[in-house]
Amino acid sequence: MSEQNYKEWTEEQWREKLTPEEFYVLRQAGTEPPGVGEYTDTTTEGVYHCRACGEELFRSTEKFASHCGWPSFFSPLAGDKVIEREDRSHGMVRTEVLCANCGSHLGHVFAGEGYDTPTDLRYCINSISMTLEEKEI
Ligand SMILES: [Zn+2]
Repeated sequence: MSEQNYKEWTEEQWREKLTPEEFYVLRQAGTEPPGVGEYTDTTTEGVYHCRACGEELFRSTEKFASHCGWPSFFSPLAGDKVIEREDRSHGMVRTEVLCANCGSHLGHVFAGEGYDTPTDLRYCINSISMTLEEKEI
């Protein structure tokens, strides 16, 4: 990873680095449609990196089949990898999940839904916000 301070990047820099679709989700807190993301049902072993800055965020070992239409994890790779903050957009109170390294939008986290996972949390993350590096964990 470079030593860039991604938190100081301008909108123009992000527009140059990302595709319009990536920019919409990562930098404008958009959401990709359900069921279309490339990692929705992926079970490949590996590490998911932030597509904006390259930071390691999630692992396949915490990914689970939520059937919600987006890649779902019950935990980030480490607690300090993501920032969670209240999101009151769209008339709902949700918890937004952002990359701690660059501040890009990843998705939302939902608690207490009854999934049979160690945390009962569902980190509902846009595929387009991540890049999977296939490797043994
Ligand atoms: Zn990032």
